Amino acid sequence: MTGPARFKGIAASIGVAVGPARVINRDRSRVSHRRIEETDVSSELARFEQAVSKSRAEIEVAKQQLTDRHGSAYAPILDIYLLMHGDALLIDATSEAIREDRINAEWALSRVTERLKKPLLEDASSYFQERARDIDHVREHLFRHLRGEKRSARTTDGPTVLIAHDLTPADAVHMLAPPTVGLVTEMGARSSHTAILARTFGVPAVVGVGPLPTEVEDDEVVLVDGFAGEVTLGASPEERRAAEIRRDRFAAFLRTERSTSAVTRDGVSISVTANVELPSEVQAVLENGAEGIGLYRTEFMCLDRMEPPSEDEQLEVYRAVVSAMAPKQVVFRTFDWRGDKRLRVHDLGERERAWLRTQINAVLRASGEGSVALMFPMVSTVEEFREARALVEECRSELSDKPTGSAELPVGMMVEVPSAALLAERFAQHADFFAVGTNDLAHYTLAFDRRDSRSTAQPLDPAVLGLLERTVTAASEAGMPCSMCGDMAADPVALGLALGLGYRQISVPVSVVPLARAVIRNVDLQIAAEVARDAMQCASADAVRDLVVERLDGHLGMLWKEQGIV
Ligand code: PEP
Ligand code: MG
Repeated sequence: MTGPARFKGIAASIGVAVGPARVINRDRSRVSHRRIEETDVSSELARFEQAVSKSRAEIEVAKQQLTDRHGSAYAPILDIYLLMHGDALLIDATSEAIREDRINAEWALSRVTERLKKPLLEDASSYFQERARDIDHVREHLFRHLRGEKRSARTTDGPTVLIAHDLTPADAVHMLAPPTVGLVTEMGARSSHTAILARTFGVPAVVGVGPLPTEVEDDEVVLVDGFAGEVTLGASPEERRAAEIRRDRFAAFLRTERSTSAVTRDGVSISVTANVELPSEVQAVLENGAEGIGLYRTEFMCLDRMEPPSEDEQLEVYRAVVSAMAPKQVVFRTFDWRGDKRLRVHDLGERERAWLRTQINAVLRASGEGSVALMFPMVSTVEEFREARALVEECRSELSDKPTGSAELPVGMMVEVPSAALLAERFAQHADFFAVGTNDLAHYTLAFDRRDSRSTAQPLDPAVLGLLERTVTAASEAGMPCSMCGDMAADPVALGLALGLGYRQISVPVSVVPLARAVIRNVDLQIAAEVARDAMQCASADAVRDLVVERLDGHLGMLWKEQGIV
Protein backbone atom coordinates (compact mmCIF):
# COMPACT_ATOMS: atom_id res chain seq x y z
CA MET A 1 0.00 0.00 0.00
CA THR A 2 1.48 3.41 -0.90
CA GLY A 3 -0.11 6.07 1.34
CA PRO A 4 -2.56 5.47 4.12
CA ALA A 5 -6.04 4.30 3.13
CA ARG A 6 -8.94 5.79 5.04
CA PHE A 7 -12.46 4.47 5.36
CA LYS A 8 -15.41 6.35 6.73
CA GLY A 9 -18.02 4.52 8.71
CA ILE A 10 -20.38 5.09 11.60
CA ALA A 11 -18.81 6.17 14.89
CA ALA A 12 -20.34 3.47 17.07
CA SER A 13 -18.25 3.65 20.22
CA ILE A 14 -16.04 6.55 21.24
CA GLY A 15 -12.30 6.33 21.83
CA VAL A 16 -9.24 5.63 19.74
CA ALA A 17 -7.68 2.23 19.13
CA VAL A 18 -4.38 1.31 17.54
CA GLY A 19 -3.34 -2.25 16.93
CA PRO A 20 -2.70 -5.08 14.55
CA ALA A 21 -5.73 -6.38 12.71
CA ARG A 22 -7.36 -9.64 13.51
CA VAL A 23 -9.54 -10.40 10.52
CA ILE A 24 -12.50 -12.69 11.09
CA ASN A 25 -15.53 -13.83 9.11
CA ARG A 26 -15.00 -11.34 6.29
CA ASP A 27 -17.62 -11.71 3.64
CA ARG A 28 -16.12 -14.46 1.55
CA SER A 29 -18.40 -14.07 -1.38
CA ARG A 30 -16.00 -15.95 -3.60
CA VAL A 31 -16.92 -19.48 -2.65
CA SER A 32 -14.97 -22.06 -4.63
CA HIS A 33 -17.28 -23.96 -6.97
CA ARG A 34 -15.89 -27.32 -7.98
CA ARG A 35 -17.54 -30.37 -9.47
CA ILE A 36 -16.17 -33.63 -8.10
CA GLU A 37 -15.86 -37.15 -9.45
CA GLU A 38 -17.87 -39.97 -7.96
CA THR A 39 -14.65 -41.44 -6.60
CA ASP A 40 -14.00 -38.21 -4.64
CA VAL A 41 -17.41 -38.05 -2.97
CA SER A 42 -16.45 -40.00 0.13
CA SER A 43 -13.31 -37.95 0.78
CA GLU A 44 -15.28 -34.72 0.28
CA LEU A 45 -17.92 -35.95 2.74
CA ALA A 46 -15.19 -36.80 5.24
CA ARG A 47 -13.66 -33.33 4.78
CA PHE A 48 -17.04 -31.76 5.50
CA GLU A 49 -17.68 -33.95 8.54
CA GLN A 50 -14.29 -33.09 9.93
CA ALA A 51 -14.99 -29.38 9.49
CA VAL A 52 -18.32 -29.81 11.32
CA SER A 53 -16.74 -31.54 14.26
CA LYS A 54 -13.87 -29.03 14.55
CA SER A 55 -16.26 -26.14 14.33
CA ARG A 56 -18.50 -27.68 17.00
CA ALA A 57 -15.51 -28.20 19.28
CA GLU A 58 -14.49 -24.58 18.81
CA ILE A 59 -17.93 -23.34 19.83
CA GLU A 60 -17.93 -25.62 22.88
CA VAL A 61 -14.70 -23.92 23.96
CA ALA A 62 -16.22 -20.47 23.36
CA LYS A 63 -19.23 -21.50 25.44
CA GLN A 64 -16.99 -22.46 28.31
CA GLN A 65 -15.14 -19.14 28.05
CA LEU A 66 -18.42 -17.29 28.11
CA THR A 67 -19.48 -19.15 31.26
CA ASP A 68 -16.18 -18.33 32.90
CA ARG A 69 -16.47 -14.64 32.07
CA HIS A 70 -20.17 -13.89 32.39
CA GLY A 71 -21.73 -16.75 34.36
CA SER A 72 -23.73 -19.80 33.39
CA ALA A 73 -26.89 -17.89 32.49
CA TYR A 74 -25.14 -16.56 29.40
CA ALA A 75 -23.54 -19.70 28.03
CA PRO A 76 -26.69 -20.93 26.26
CA ILE A 77 -26.32 -17.91 23.96
CA LEU A 78 -24.16 -20.19 21.86
CA ASP A 79 -26.47 -23.20 22.02
CA ILE A 80 -28.24 -22.28 18.84
CA TYR A 81 -24.94 -22.57 16.96
CA LEU A 82 -24.24 -25.95 18.50
CA LEU A 83 -27.73 -27.13 17.60
CA MET A 84 -27.21 -26.04 14.02
CA HIS A 85 -24.12 -28.23 13.80
CA GLY A 86 -26.42 -31.22 14.17
CA ASP A 87 -29.29 -29.88 12.11
CA ALA A 88 -30.63 -32.14 9.39
CA LEU A 89 -31.74 -29.21 7.24
CA LEU A 90 -28.25 -27.76 7.29
CA ILE A 91 -25.70 -30.49 7.85
CA ASP A 92 -27.45 -33.52 6.38
CA ALA A 93 -28.70 -31.46 3.45
CA THR A 94 -25.14 -30.31 2.70
CA SER A 95 -23.84 -33.88 2.77
CA GLU A 96 -26.66 -34.86 0.47
CA ALA A 97 -25.82 -32.06 -1.97
CA ILE A 98 -22.17 -33.21 -2.02
CA ARG A 99 -23.31 -36.76 -2.71
CA GLU A 100 -26.15 -36.16 -5.11
CA ASP A 101 -24.98 -33.09 -7.00
CA ARG A 102 -21.27 -34.04 -6.92
CA ILE A 103 -20.08 -30.64 -5.87
CA ASN A 104 -17.45 -29.59 -3.36
CA ALA A 105 -18.42 -28.98 0.28
CA GLU A 106 -18.15 -25.16 0.11
CA TRP A 107 -20.48 -24.98 -2.85
CA ALA A 108 -22.93 -27.44 -1.29
CA LEU A 109 -22.93 -25.57 2.02
CA SER A 110 -23.43 -22.24 0.35
CA ARG A 111 -26.32 -23.60 -1.73
CA VAL A 112 -28.05 -25.10 1.31
CA THR A 113 -27.61 -22.04 3.50
CA GLU A 114 -28.92 -19.68 0.81
CA ARG A 115 -31.99 -21.89 0.49
CA LEU A 116 -32.54 -21.95 4.26
CA LYS A 117 -32.10 -18.21 4.60
CA LYS A 118 -34.46 -17.20 1.83
CA PRO A 119 -37.79 -17.50 3.68
CA LEU A 120 -36.22 -15.99 6.81
CA LEU A 121 -34.98 -12.96 4.93
CA GLU A 122 -38.33 -12.48 3.24
CA ASP A 123 -39.99 -12.20 6.63
CA ALA A 124 -40.04 -8.63 7.92
CA SER A 125 -39.56 -9.75 11.49
CA SER A 126 -36.17 -8.91 12.87
CA TYR A 127 -36.29 -12.16 14.83
CA PHE A 128 -36.14 -14.15 11.59
CA GLN A 129 -33.57 -11.79 10.09
CA GLU A 130 -31.36 -12.47 13.08
CA ARG A 131 -31.83 -16.22 12.59
CA ALA A 132 -30.65 -15.79 8.98
CA ARG A 133 -27.54 -14.11 10.35
CA ASP A 134 -27.03 -17.04 12.69
CA ILE A 135 -27.01 -19.34 9.65
CA ASP A 136 -24.39 -17.09 8.02
CA HIS A 137 -22.36 -17.22 11.14
CA VAL A 138 -22.36 -21.02 11.30
CA ARG A 139 -21.54 -21.15 7.59
CA GLU A 140 -18.54 -18.87 8.16
CA HIS A 141 -17.34 -21.15 10.94
CA LEU A 142 -17.64 -24.17 8.67
CA PHE A 143 -15.99 -22.39 5.73
CA ARG A 144 -13.07 -21.51 7.92
CA HIS A 145 -12.59 -25.10 8.99
CA LEU A 146 -13.00 -26.31 5.41
CA ARG A 147 -10.23 -23.96 4.42
CA GLY A 148 -8.18 -25.44 7.23
CA GLU A 149 -7.85 -22.04 8.92
CA LYS A 150 -7.74 -21.81 12.66
CA ARG A 151 -9.26 -18.95 14.55
CA SER A 152 -6.38 -16.51 14.87
CA ALA A 153 -3.99 -18.14 17.29
CA ARG A 154 -3.04 -14.76 18.69
CA THR A 155 -5.38 -14.47 21.59
CA THR A 156 -3.05 -13.34 24.29
CA ASP A 157 -0.05 -11.64 22.72
CA GLY A 158 -1.11 -8.03 22.84
CA PRO A 159 -3.95 -5.83 21.75
CA THR A 160 -5.74 -6.45 18.47
CA VAL A 161 -8.31 -4.64 16.37
CA LEU A 162 -11.09 -6.94 15.29
CA ILE A 163 -12.09 -6.61 11.65
CA ALA A 164 -15.23 -8.44 10.61
CA HIS A 165 -17.83 -8.35 7.94
CA ASP A 166 -20.39 -8.42 10.72
CA LEU A 167 -20.70 -9.81 14.22
CA THR A 168 -23.72 -11.47 15.69
CA PRO A 169 -24.46 -10.23 19.21
CA ALA A 170 -23.35 -13.64 20.49
CA ASP A 171 -20.02 -13.20 18.73
CA ALA A 172 -19.70 -9.73 20.13
CA VAL A 173 -20.26 -10.87 23.72
CA HIS A 174 -17.49 -13.36 23.24
CA MET A 175 -15.01 -11.31 21.23
CA LEU A 176 -15.21 -7.77 22.57
CA ALA A 177 -12.89 -8.54 25.44
CA PRO A 178 -9.15 -8.26 25.83
CA PRO A 179 -7.05 -8.52 23.73
CA THR A 180 -9.59 -6.79 21.46
CA VAL A 181 -9.06 -3.03 21.74
CA GLY A 182 -10.99 -1.86 18.69
CA LEU A 183 -13.70 -3.03 16.33
CA VAL A 184 -14.34 -2.40 12.66
CA THR A 185 -17.25 -4.00 10.84
CA GLU A 186 -18.26 -3.70 7.23
CA MET A 187 -21.93 -3.93 8.20
CA GLY A 188 -23.85 -2.58 11.16
CA ALA A 189 -25.47 0.59 12.40
CA ARG A 190 -24.91 2.78 15.45
CA SER A 191 -27.84 1.30 17.28
CA SER A 192 -27.37 -2.31 16.27
CA HIS A 193 -26.76 -4.57 19.24
CA THR A 194 -23.13 -5.16 18.33
CA ALA A 195 -22.51 -1.41 18.47
CA ILE A 196 -24.28 -1.26 21.84
CA LEU A 197 -22.00 -4.00 23.16
CA ALA A 198 -18.91 -2.18 21.89
CA ARG A 199 -19.99 0.87 23.89
CA THR A 200 -20.76 -1.35 26.88
CA PHE A 201 -17.29 -2.83 26.87
CA GLY A 202 -15.69 0.53 26.06
CA VAL A 203 -14.18 -0.80 22.84
CA PRO A 204 -13.78 2.01 20.26
CA ALA A 205 -15.72 0.96 17.19
CA VAL A 206 -16.49 2.03 13.66
CA VAL A 207 -19.24 0.05 11.96
CA GLY A 208 -20.88 0.09 8.54
CA VAL A 209 -17.65 0.97 6.70
CA GLY A 210 -18.69 -1.07 3.65
CA PRO A 211 -16.35 -3.46 1.84
CA LEU A 212 -12.77 -3.16 3.01
CA PRO A 213 -10.01 -4.12 0.58
CA THR A 214 -9.55 -7.87 0.53
CA GLU A 215 -5.84 -7.46 1.09
CA VAL A 216 -6.36 -6.33 4.70
CA GLU A 217 -4.67 -9.16 6.50
CA ASP A 218 -3.99 -10.17 10.05
CA ASP A 219 -1.30 -8.07 11.73
CA GLU A 220 -1.62 -4.99 9.52
CA VAL A 221 -1.76 -1.99 11.85
CA VAL A 222 -5.17 -0.31 11.99
CA LEU A 223 -6.17 3.00 13.55
CA VAL A 224 -9.77 3.21 14.73
CA ASP A 225 -11.16 6.65 15.44
CA GLY A 226 -14.41 6.04 17.29
CA PHE A 227 -15.09 9.79 17.51
CA ALA A 228 -14.89 10.59 13.81
CA GLY A 229 -15.95 7.16 12.54
CA GLU A 230 -12.74 6.72 10.59
CA VAL A 231 -10.52 3.70 10.01
CA THR A 232 -6.96 4.11 8.72
CA LEU A 233 -4.78 1.43 7.21
CA GLY A 234 -1.13 1.92 6.36
CA ALA A 235 -0.69 4.92 8.69
CA SER A 236 2.72 6.57 8.89
CA PRO A 237 4.68 6.13 12.15
CA GLU A 238 3.92 9.79 13.02
CA GLU A 239 0.22 9.31 12.48
CA ARG A 240 0.28 6.17 14.53
CA ARG A 241 2.06 7.94 17.36
CA ALA A 242 -0.46 10.80 17.29
CA ALA A 243 -3.32 8.28 17.53
CA GLU A 244 -1.63 6.56 20.45
CA ILE A 245 -1.30 9.89 22.27
CA ARG A 246 -5.01 10.63 21.71
CA ARG A 247 -5.90 7.14 22.90
CA ASP A 248 -3.86 7.49 26.08
CA ARG A 249 -5.13 10.99 26.85
CA PHE A 250 -8.72 9.86 26.52
CA ALA A 251 -8.11 6.84 28.76
CA ALA A 252 -6.45 9.08 31.37
CA PHE A 253 -9.33 11.54 31.14
CA LEU A 254 -11.86 8.76 31.77
CA ARG A 255 -9.87 7.62 34.79
CA THR A 256 -9.83 11.09 36.34
CA GLU A 257 -13.58 11.41 35.78
CA ARG A 258 -14.49 8.26 37.66
CA SER A 259 -15.63 9.88 40.86
CA THR A 260 -16.63 13.36 39.76
CA SER A 261 -20.07 14.87 40.25
CA ALA A 262 -22.72 15.57 37.66
CA VAL A 263 -23.73 19.11 38.55
CA THR A 264 -24.25 21.69 35.81
CA ARG A 265 -22.50 25.09 35.81
CA ASP A 266 -25.63 26.61 37.23
CA GLY A 267 -25.73 24.10 40.06
CA VAL A 268 -28.36 21.56 39.01
CA SER A 269 -27.68 17.91 39.80
CA ILE A 270 -28.26 15.51 36.96
CA SER A 271 -28.73 11.81 37.65
CA VAL A 272 -26.37 9.66 35.60
CA THR A 273 -27.11 5.95 35.61
CA ALA A 274 -25.77 3.14 33.45
CA ASN A 275 -27.21 0.92 30.74
CA VAL A 276 -26.27 -2.69 31.31
CA GLU A 277 -26.46 -5.81 29.20
CA LEU A 278 -24.49 -8.32 31.25
CA PRO A 279 -24.23 -8.91 34.99
CA SER A 280 -20.45 -8.81 34.79
CA GLU A 281 -20.73 -5.06 34.10
CA VAL A 282 -21.94 -4.28 37.60
CA GLN A 283 -18.44 -3.82 38.90
CA ALA A 284 -17.68 -1.23 36.23
CA VAL A 285 -20.98 0.53 37.00
CA LEU A 286 -19.91 0.92 40.61
CA GLU A 287 -16.31 1.84 39.75
CA ASN A 288 -17.52 4.58 37.42
CA GLY A 289 -19.75 6.01 40.12
CA ALA A 290 -23.05 5.61 38.26
CA GLU A 291 -26.08 6.33 40.43
CA GLY A 292 -27.79 3.11 39.48
CA ILE A 293 -28.73 1.00 36.49
CA GLY A 294 -31.25 2.95 34.44
CA LEU A 295 -31.72 0.26 31.81
CA TYR A 296 -30.98 -3.42 32.22
CA ARG A 297 -31.43 -5.02 28.78
CA THR A 298 -32.54 -8.46 29.96
CA GLU A 299 -32.94 -9.88 26.46
CA PHE A 300 -29.17 -10.25 26.28
CA MET A 301 -29.57 -13.34 28.43
CA CYS A 302 -31.78 -14.85 25.72
CA LEU A 303 -29.67 -14.07 22.67
CA ASP A 304 -29.92 -17.01 20.34
CA ARG A 305 -31.47 -19.23 22.96
CA MET A 306 -34.47 -21.23 21.99
CA GLU A 307 -36.32 -19.88 25.02
CA PRO A 308 -35.56 -17.63 27.99
CA PRO A 309 -33.89 -18.91 31.14
CA SER A 310 -36.17 -20.36 33.82
CA GLU A 311 -37.56 -18.21 36.62
CA ASP A 312 -34.93 -19.51 39.04
CA GLU A 313 -32.08 -18.93 36.60
CA GLN A 314 -33.27 -15.37 36.04
CA LEU A 315 -33.80 -14.86 39.74
CA GLU A 316 -30.20 -15.82 40.43
CA VAL A 317 -28.89 -13.22 37.97
CA TYR A 318 -31.31 -10.47 39.03
CA ARG A 319 -30.67 -11.05 42.72
CA ALA A 320 -26.93 -10.87 42.29
CA VAL A 321 -27.21 -7.61 40.34
CA VAL A 322 -29.73 -5.99 42.69
CA SER A 323 -27.84 -6.85 45.85
CA ALA A 324 -24.49 -5.73 44.39
CA MET A 325 -26.06 -2.41 43.39
CA ALA A 326 -28.10 -1.84 46.59
CA PRO A 327 -29.16 0.71 47.71
CA LYS A 328 -28.87 2.08 44.17
CA GLN A 329 -31.80 1.29 41.91
CA VAL A 330 -31.85 -1.24 39.07
CA VAL A 331 -34.44 -0.76 36.32
CA PHE A 332 -35.11 -4.06 34.58
CA ARG A 333 -36.61 -3.90 31.14
CA THR A 334 -38.68 -6.93 30.13
CA PHE A 335 -37.34 -8.87 27.15
CA ASP A 336 -37.23 -6.64 24.09
CA TRP A 337 -37.51 -9.22 21.37
CA ARG A 338 -38.95 -7.23 18.51
CA GLY A 339 -40.44 -8.67 15.40
CA ASP A 340 -42.89 -11.39 16.05
CA LYS A 341 -42.16 -11.36 19.73
CA ARG A 342 -42.44 -7.72 20.67
CA LEU A 343 -44.58 -6.89 23.60
CA ARG A 344 -48.21 -6.26 22.98
CA VAL A 345 -49.56 -8.12 25.88
CA HIS A 346 -52.88 -8.76 24.17
CA ASP A 347 -51.11 -10.19 21.10
CA LEU A 348 -48.81 -12.55 22.95
CA GLY A 349 -49.30 -16.25 22.37
CA GLU A 350 -49.65 -18.55 25.35
CA ARG A 351 -45.98 -19.43 25.29
CA GLU A 352 -44.70 -15.84 25.17
CA ARG A 353 -47.16 -14.80 27.84
CA ALA A 354 -45.83 -17.55 30.07
CA TRP A 355 -42.27 -16.32 29.42
CA LEU A 356 -43.24 -12.80 30.38
CA ARG A 357 -44.91 -14.02 33.57
CA THR A 358 -41.77 -15.98 34.41
CA GLN A 359 -39.70 -12.86 34.02
CA ILE A 360 -42.05 -10.65 36.02
CA ASN A 361 -42.07 -13.23 38.82
CA ALA A 362 -38.28 -13.32 38.86
CA VAL A 363 -38.08 -9.52 39.05
CA LEU A 364 -40.72 -9.38 41.79
CA ARG A 365 -38.86 -11.99 43.78
CA ALA A 366 -35.53 -10.19 43.33
CA SER A 367 -36.99 -6.85 44.36
CA GLY A 368 -36.57 -7.63 48.06
CA GLU A 369 -32.79 -7.54 47.69
CA GLY A 370 -32.63 -3.82 47.05
CA SER A 371 -34.23 -1.12 44.94
CA VAL A 372 -35.87 -2.38 41.77
CA ALA A 373 -38.13 -1.01 39.05
CA LEU A 374 -39.59 -2.73 36.02
CA MET A 375 -40.36 -1.31 32.62
CA PHE A 376 -41.80 -2.47 29.32
CA PRO A 377 -40.23 -1.73 25.93
CA MET A 378 -41.88 -0.59 22.71
CA VAL A 379 -45.19 0.32 24.31
CA SER A 380 -47.40 1.91 21.68
CA THR A 381 -50.92 2.08 23.08
CA VAL A 382 -52.28 3.01 26.48
CA GLU A 383 -54.34 -0.17 26.44
CA GLU A 384 -51.25 -2.28 25.98
CA PHE A 385 -49.51 -0.63 28.89
CA ARG A 386 -52.52 -1.08 31.14
CA GLU A 387 -52.57 -4.76 30.31
CA ALA A 388 -48.87 -5.03 31.06
CA ARG A 389 -49.41 -3.41 34.43
CA ALA A 390 -52.35 -5.67 35.15
CA LEU A 391 -50.14 -8.65 34.42
CA VAL A 392 -47.61 -7.41 36.99
CA GLU A 393 -50.40 -7.10 39.54
CA GLU A 394 -51.64 -10.58 38.71
CA CYS A 395 -48.16 -12.02 39.21
CA ARG A 396 -47.73 -10.09 42.42
CA SER A 397 -50.97 -11.41 43.91
CA GLU A 398 -50.10 -14.96 42.89
CA LEU A 399 -46.77 -14.60 44.64
CA SER A 400 -48.30 -12.95 47.69
CA ASP A 401 -48.38 -16.13 49.76
CA LYS A 402 -44.66 -16.59 49.11
CA PRO A 403 -41.91 -14.27 50.32
CA THR A 404 -41.76 -11.97 47.33
CA GLY A 405 -39.69 -9.22 48.80
CA SER A 406 -40.54 -5.57 48.48
CA ALA A 407 -44.15 -4.63 47.83
CA GLU A 408 -42.94 -1.53 46.03
CA LEU A 409 -42.16 -2.10 42.40
CA PRO A 410 -42.48 1.00 40.25
CA VAL A 411 -43.71 0.01 36.79
CA GLY A 412 -42.70 2.23 33.92
CA MET A 413 -42.43 2.20 30.17
CA MET A 414 -40.00 3.01 27.44
CA VAL A 415 -41.08 5.90 25.25
CA GLU A 416 -39.56 4.89 21.95
CA VAL A 417 -42.31 4.87 19.36
CA PRO A 418 -43.91 8.09 18.16
CA SER A 419 -47.40 7.16 19.43
CA ALA A 420 -46.11 6.95 23.00
CA ALA A 421 -44.44 10.35 22.75
CA LEU A 422 -47.45 11.95 21.09
CA LEU A 423 -49.77 10.72 23.84
CA ALA A 424 -47.24 11.08 26.65
CA GLU A 425 -49.71 12.99 28.85
CA ARG A 426 -52.12 10.06 28.73
CA PHE A 427 -49.45 7.46 29.32
CA ALA A 428 -48.27 9.53 32.27
CA GLN A 429 -51.55 8.80 34.02
CA HIS A 430 -50.75 5.08 34.01
CA ALA A 431 -46.98 4.75 34.23
CA ASP A 432 -44.78 5.36 37.25
CA PHE A 433 -41.90 6.58 35.09
CA PHE A 434 -40.74 7.05 31.51
CA ALA A 435 -37.44 5.97 30.00
CA VAL A 436 -36.96 7.49 26.58
CA GLY A 437 -35.33 5.29 23.95
CA THR A 438 -33.93 7.68 21.38
CA ASN A 439 -32.52 4.87 19.23
CA ASP A 440 -35.88 3.41 18.34
CA LEU A 441 -37.72 6.70 18.52
CA ALA A 442 -35.47 8.19 15.82
CA HIS A 443 -35.87 5.17 13.59
CA TYR A 444 -39.62 4.84 13.93
CA THR A 445 -40.14 8.57 13.50
CA LEU A 446 -37.98 8.76 10.40
CA ALA A 447 -39.06 5.38 8.99
CA PHE A 448 -35.65 3.71 8.92
CA ASP A 449 -34.69 0.19 9.83
CA ARG A 450 -32.37 0.32 12.78
CA ARG A 451 -30.13 -2.45 11.46
CA ASP A 452 -29.65 -0.79 8.11
CA SER A 453 -26.15 0.67 7.91
CA ARG A 454 -27.44 3.24 5.39
CA SER A 455 -29.87 4.58 7.97
CA THR A 456 -29.41 8.28 8.58
CA ALA A 457 -32.01 8.43 11.33
CA GLN A 458 -30.71 10.63 14.12
CA PRO A 459 -32.29 11.72 17.36
CA LEU A 460 -31.08 15.24 16.52
CA ASP A 461 -33.62 15.45 13.74
CA PRO A 462 -35.98 18.32 14.63
CA ALA A 463 -38.99 15.98 14.31
CA VAL A 464 -37.52 13.71 16.98
CA LEU A 465 -36.55 16.67 19.17
CA GLY A 466 -40.21 17.74 19.16
CA LEU A 467 -41.25 14.31 20.46
CA LEU A 468 -38.50 14.32 23.06
CA GLU A 469 -39.58 17.67 24.39
CA ARG A 470 -43.22 16.66 24.46
CA THR A 471 -42.40 13.56 26.49
CA VAL A 472 -40.25 15.23 29.13
CA THR A 473 -42.74 18.07 29.49
CA ALA A 474 -45.63 15.65 29.99
CA ALA A 475 -43.63 13.77 32.61
CA SER A 476 -42.66 16.90 34.47
CA GLU A 477 -46.26 18.17 34.47
CA ALA A 478 -47.34 14.83 35.92
CA GLY A 479 -44.50 14.98 38.44
CA MET A 480 -43.09 11.66 37.30
CA PRO A 481 -39.46 10.68 36.63
CA CYS A 482 -38.35 10.67 33.01
CA SER A 483 -34.89 9.55 31.97
CA MET A 484 -33.25 9.40 28.59
CA CYS A 485 -31.59 6.04 28.10
CA GLY A 486 -31.09 6.01 24.33
CA ASP A 487 -27.75 6.83 22.79
CA MET A 488 -28.52 10.51 22.35
CA ALA A 489 -27.56 10.90 25.99
CA ALA A 490 -24.27 9.10 25.32
CA ASP A 491 -23.33 11.42 22.48
CA PRO A 492 -21.25 14.17 24.09
CA VAL A 493 -22.53 16.75 21.60
CA ALA A 494 -26.21 15.79 21.81
CA LEU A 495 -26.21 15.46 25.59
CA GLY A 496 -26.15 19.26 26.08
CA LEU A 497 -29.24 19.45 23.91
CA ALA A 498 -31.00 16.73 25.92
CA LEU A 499 -30.40 18.80 29.05
CA GLY A 500 -31.69 21.86 27.22
CA LEU A 501 -34.88 19.98 26.33
CA GLY A 502 -35.47 19.39 30.04
CA TYR A 503 -33.97 15.96 30.76
CA ARG A 504 -32.51 15.71 34.26
CA GLN A 505 -31.88 11.97 34.32
CA ILE A 506 -29.83 10.10 31.78
CA SER A 507 -28.68 6.54 31.44
CA VAL A 508 -25.68 5.75 29.26
CA PRO A 509 -23.36 2.81 28.52
CA VAL A 510 -21.08 2.15 31.46
CA SER A 511 -18.00 3.24 29.54
CA VAL A 512 -19.57 6.65 28.82
CA VAL A 513 -20.64 7.49 32.40
CA PRO A 514 -17.47 9.52 33.23
CA LEU A 515 -17.59 11.45 29.95
CA ALA A 516 -21.27 12.25 30.42
CA ARG A 517 -20.53 13.74 33.83
CA ALA A 518 -17.74 15.88 32.37
CA VAL A 519 -20.08 17.23 29.69
CA ILE A 520 -22.78 17.96 32.28
CA ARG A 521 -20.38 19.97 34.43
CA ASN A 522 -19.63 22.20 31.46
CA VAL A 523 -23.24 22.93 30.52
CA ASP A 524 -25.24 25.93 31.63
CA LEU A 525 -28.88 24.86 31.59
CA GLN A 526 -30.22 28.24 30.64
CA ILE A 527 -28.00 28.43 27.56
CA ALA A 528 -28.76 24.81 26.74
CA ALA A 529 -32.50 25.54 26.90
CA GLU A 530 -32.09 28.42 24.44
CA VAL A 531 -30.08 26.19 22.11
CA ALA A 532 -32.80 23.52 22.35
CA ARG A 533 -35.51 26.03 21.43
CA ASP A 534 -33.55 27.17 18.38
CA ALA A 535 -32.62 23.61 17.44
CA MET A 536 -36.28 22.72 17.05
CA GLN A 537 -36.56 25.40 14.36
CA CYS A 538 -33.67 23.94 12.33
CA ALA A 539 -34.28 22.15 9.07
CA SER A 540 -32.18 19.04 9.60
CA ALA A 541 -30.22 16.95 12.08
CA ASP A 542 -26.95 18.21 10.60
CA ALA A 543 -28.05 21.80 11.08
CA VAL A 544 -28.95 20.98 14.69
CA ARG A 545 -25.53 19.44 15.31
CA ASP A 546 -23.77 22.47 13.80
CA LEU A 547 -25.89 24.77 15.95
CA VAL A 548 -25.08 22.88 19.14
CA VAL A 549 -21.37 22.80 18.36
CA GLU A 550 -21.36 26.52 17.59
CA ARG A 551 -23.38 27.59 20.63
CA LEU A 552 -22.00 25.28 23.30
CA ASP A 553 -18.45 25.31 22.01
CA GLY A 554 -17.49 28.23 24.26
CA HIS A 555 -18.06 26.04 27.29
CA LEU A 556 -17.41 22.61 25.95
CA GLY A 557 -14.83 23.50 23.35
CA MET A 558 -11.82 22.51 25.42
CA LEU A 559 -13.41 19.29 26.53
CA TRP A 560 -14.57 18.40 23.06
CA LYS A 561 -11.42 19.48 21.28
CA GLU A 562 -9.00 17.91 23.73
CA GLN A 563 -10.79 14.63 23.38
CA GLY A 564 -11.12 14.96 19.63
CA ILE A 565 -14.92 14.91 19.83
CA VAL A 566 -15.54 17.77 17.40
C1 PEP B 1 -33.57 2.81 22.54
O1 PEP B 1 -34.31 2.34 21.67
O2 PEP B 1 -33.10 3.96 22.50
C2 PEP B 1 -33.21 1.99 23.72
C3 PEP B 1 -32.59 2.51 24.76
O3 PEP B 1 -33.49 0.66 23.68
P1 PEP B 1 -32.61 -0.38 22.82
O4 PEP B 1 -31.42 0.36 22.29
O5 PEP B 1 -32.26 -1.50 23.71
O6 PEP B 1 -33.61 -0.76 21.77
MG1 MG C 1 -35.33 0.48 22.04
